Amino acid sequence: THFGFETVKESEKTQKVSEVFHRVADTYDLMNDVMSAGVHRLWKDVFVERLSPPSGTRLLDVAGGTGDIAFRFVNYLKNAGHTGNVTVCDINPDMLRVGQDRARQKHYTDIDWVEGNAEELPFPDNCFTAYTIAFGLRNVTRTDLALKEAWRVLKPGGRFMCLEFSHVANEPLRWLYDRYSFQMIPAMGQVIAGDWKSYQYLVESIRKFPDQETLAGMIESAGFWSVSYENLTFGCVAIHSGFKL
Ligand code: SAM
Repeated sequence: THFGFETVKESEKTQKVSEVFHRVADTYDLMNDVMSAGVHRLWKDVFVERLSPPSGTRLLDVAGGTGDIAFRFVNYLKNAGHTGNVTVCDINPDMLRVGQDRARQKHYTDIDWVEGNAEELPFPDNCFTAYTIAFGLRNVTRTDLALKEAWRVLKPGGRFMCLEFSHVANEPLRWLYDRYSFQMIPAMGQVIAGDWKSYQYLVESIRKFPDQETLAGMIESAGFWSVSYENLTFGCVAIHSGFKL
């Protein structure tokens, strides 16, 4: 097969993912804008809008990378006149470094940045009121472990929310989307970032990720209640939500 990561064993995935994000960290934000024509910004806006963090929210943003969700969360609190705080946790120090640089430039001073694995979070039980993971769950090797960890660190009443690529149900649209993603995205990765392979990994990981209903079932299996999801852009991405009772 010409898809280099297709045969990667589960045990090697963590290593591959870390190499990918080490390579792409510095061009990550630019590539997001180019590949999604800026639409990822709207998806993230809607995501934080749906979270509608109440005053006093203690948010853990896992796989928070370069800070896109954390910055939106802080803006939301500020506009609503709410208090709250956010911890960004990511396994990759390069992504965190880019995030911290951006935070300094944008004068976000009160975000905590913590290196850690979603499958084994470096936090005690019951300490956050919200958990978000945006375009992150797909990169985690053992999704079920990450979901259990989300449940563990949330307080009772806490909310889990995931923003992730999902499955386009409409056949003609999916055909178009597949053509775009399999051919255009690695090519753009090559031209803009000089890196075909990382972007090929990206497309493959999207294709392999469970569809909306399957992911909802997995979130329920981890112990969450009132699990629901919403499709954005015909299901290109979906927002899943659940609560710890
Ligand atoms: N949430 C950010 C956003 O929406 O722009 C970043 C998403 S980026 C596509 C995926 C992130 O997941 C990377 O920063 C990567 O380092 C991180 N990641 C991958 N595996 C992880 C794991 N097991 N635990 C924590 N973070 C992980």
